[in-house]
This record gives sequence, C-alpha cells and structure tokens, in this order.
Amino acid sequence: MIYLDQNVSDYDNDFRTMIQAFIPREKIVLSEEGTRLTFRARLTEEQVELSLWENGEKIGEERADCYYPDKKTARNPIKAAAYYLLSRYCNKSLPWGSMTGVRPTKFATARLEEGWTEEEVIQEYEKQYLTTRQKGEICYRVAKREQELLQSFHFQEEYCLYVGIPFCLSRCLYCSFAAYPVSQYQNRIEDYLAALFHEIEYVAQAYKNKRLVAVYMGGGTPTSLSAEQLGRVIDKIYKEFDTQFVREFTVEAGRPDSLNREKFMVMKERPVTRISINPQTMNDKTLQFIGRNHTAQMTVDAFYQARECGMDNINMDMIVGLPKEGIEDIRYTLDVIRELNPESLTVHSLAIKRAAELNIQMQQYQDSIKGSTNEMLTLADQYASELGMQPYYLYRQKNIPGNLENVGYAKPGKECLYNVLIMEEKMDIIAVGAGTSTKLTFPEENRIERVENVKNVEEYIHRVDEMIARKEAGFQEKQF
Ligand code: SF4
Repeated sequence: MIYLDQNVSDYDNDFRTMIQAFIPREKIVLSEEGTRLTFRARLTEEQVELSLWENGEKIGEERADCYYPDKKTARNPIKAAAYYLLSRYCNKSLPWGSMTGVRPTKFATARLEEGWTEEEVIQEYEKQYLTTRQKGEICYRVAKREQELLQSFHFQEEYCLYVGIPFCLSRCLYCSFAAYPVSQYQNRIEDYLAALFHEIEYVAQAYKNKRLVAVYMGGGTPTSLSAEQLGRVIDKIYKEFDTQFVREFTVEAGRPDSLNREKFMVMKERPVTRISINPQTMNDKTLQFIGRNHTAQMTVDAFYQARECGMDNINMDMIVGLPKEGIEDIRYTLDVIRELNPESLTVHSLAIKRAAELNIQMQQYQDSIKGSTNEMLTLADQYASELGMQPYYLYRQKNIPGNLENVGYAKPGKECLYNVLIMEEKMDIIAVGAGTSTKLTFPEENRIERVENVKNVEEYIHRVDEMIARKEAGFQEKQF
C-alpha cells in the first residue's frame, strides 16, 4: 500500500494516475497505517514540493515552480515532477511520459487546427509530456488521418447507431463486456430480440429527422446468433431506419467459432460493408489459456471463407500483453495476419478490468508477462505499415499496464468511421440493447450526456420500456 499524503487534493487524480502507472496494482490509501511507501505532496502558491518516503526516511524529492491553483499552467509541470520522482525511484521510464487520459491525440488535433507543423507537434509531446518521439509521431499521424476522415461529416445533422448483442460462445479470461453464454441463454434470445426490436422502432422514429451514417453491431459477438436471427436483426434495422445515407455497416464477427458460410452469406446478401474476425493471438496454447474455444487454424479458415463469400473489408483484432506471450509469439501472430492480408488491423494492449476473470489471477498474470509490451506495439506498427496501413485511431484505457494504447490501422479508405466518430465525441451515438451506452452531444455547451441501458439480459427484456423512457428524457434535452 502507498500512502498519498497531500495538503490539498486538487491534483489527487493526477498523482494517483502517475503512481499507478509506475507501481501498478498497489493500493493507494489516504492514511499511513500499514503502508510501505509515502508519496508526499506539499503545494503552496509559489512552489510544489513532491517527495517519497520509506520507513520514515526521505528517499527522493522533486520541485516545480508554479502557481498550483491555475491548473491550466500548473498541471503539466506538476505531473512532470511526479513523473521524474517516480521514474528515479522505479528506475524506469514510460513511453507516454507524464501524459494521462484516454485520448492522447487530442493535443495533436488541437495543434494541427492551429497550423503547427509535424516537427513542432512531436517536439511539444516530448517537451511537455516527456513522451518518446515515437509516441509523438503516432499521435501526429493519427490526428492527421482523423482530420481527413472527419471533414466530410456534418456532426449535428448526422448520427451513428450501435446495436448490442450481448451473447458469446464462451467467456474469455479478460472479458469485461456483457457476454452471456449463448448455449445457456438459447431460450431467452427470442425475447431479447423482441425487446431490442422494440427499442430500435423507438429510436428510428425519434431520430427520423437526422441522417444515419454508420451502424455498428457489437456485443458480445453478434455472430453467436443463428444465421436466421442475424439476418432478422439486420433486416429490422433496414426496415425501420432510413438508410440511404449509411456509409458503413460493421458487424463484429469476432469469434471464429461463431462463424460459418451461411452467416457470411447472410451478411453479404445484406448491406454489411465491414466485418471483424478477431484472432487476438495465433498461438493455440494462449487461445486455450484465455478461454477462447477455437484454434488459430479456425481463424484462418474463417477468414478465407469470408473472402470466398465476397467480404472485401475485413478487420482483425489482436492483443499484446496476453499471459505467457513474448515478442516472438507476437511476431508469429503478425506473420500469419500478414499472410491473410486484411484491410485493417486493431492492436489492443491487454486491459484487465475489474469484472474480468484475469483480475482474480492477477499475480499469476503479472508473473507471466514476457518482455516489453511497448516493443510488441512497435513491432505491430511495423507490420501494419508493411501491409500498407496507416494508424487512424488511438486511445488508452484505464487498466492497461504501463498506460499503453490501443491503435487502429487501416489501408486507405478501409477505416472504420464509427470508431473515429465515437472517439471524437462530436456526433450522437445512439445505442440499443443490453449493456450499451448512448452518447448525446451538446456542442454549444461543450458537453456530452450518456444514457445507459441495463447490462443484464433478463432485466433488459423486462425493463426495455424504462430504457426507452431514459432515452426519451435525454432526447428531449436535445430539442428536436
Ligand atoms: S469474444 Fe469478446 S465478447 Fe466474447 S467473451 Fe471474448 S472478449 Fe468477451
């Protein structure tokens, strides 16, 4: 346990994030009892003094000259001081330096709008946030591509639809999504679809004056439905919504063990434009360990089958930092993916959320990490570039060890627009189904409102009218 001792709590969150980035998994508490280390922050209006203490002895200190009540000017130097202090103590550096937050590209986007050059942006990442040059570079590349992709949208007249199918075949060790085992929920699926269709009908009516531009079916794994059910959901969307402006329709076909020719044909015969077949890893041992009931060969077979059925925009998801995997395992996964030559590749750094089974086995997991996950990300970046892909979206999650990132790469014109739009938070994302979250934008007030649906399938079935009422209340605020 680490004692966070501060005379004012204005930077509490920043200190916690920095401590956790360097010393993950150690509990941060606000009293000294039973702690092994003290992180002390003394903030005055002239100076910020940070120090580390062990057994009553000071083992390091750092100062920043700044006026702490002005967060705009003081936050970066204070975080930098915390970074230097912890970096010396732990004898390590972090690729993202003192940069926290889920959208590290935001800074590059803002500077691009002000007309900064590439070199100026990268240097500022290194100077202000102490990132490596490579992280500054990728932020610049992503921000640039995002800017190009977003210029054709009219944020306030358009919207995206997310459809949640919260069923899956088996539960992966790291899964924190709403993913109910399809075998056990077989007799509830029809009731779920009835409730979902009811919510779809409401949204289609409520948003009839706006243009639907992108649809994303996720979950869970939507293809864990039968081919007939899958077809019915897509048909329902096309029946209820005006789809003449839809520019992409993605189905997360995630698990190869949920796929067959019939399902690919169902999607191909309907206007599904993009699917995702996710290996996560091409190493069978890891697949078995993480609870995915399929082999790497099944992923390869599913990919070729999708191609035979005419799918011409296929994404593949992979994860770096899986238990027991080292850089050579990642190289092998990337070699197989390169051979398949998908249109896009999404590289995730393993995030271990509270709800995941892996969280319970945390110590074992930590002991099994082999090598640097940042090196694995760099390798994936090289392969993506060899495949003719560019990075086009990047975000971080809270529970990624080392504060690392997730990156989406795509060949030009094959990007998932929905992924960019959800990240940008400038357009409404209306989400239907259990465990989904609607994002409503209020640009004049620089505000986002979320409207959540219940996670539990049974509750969703019974309380769908309440979910609709929640949406209705949110939509009323938008006044259209
Ligand atoms: S495939 Fe995805 S949704 Fe299904 S259990 Fe694994 S992580 Fe969860």
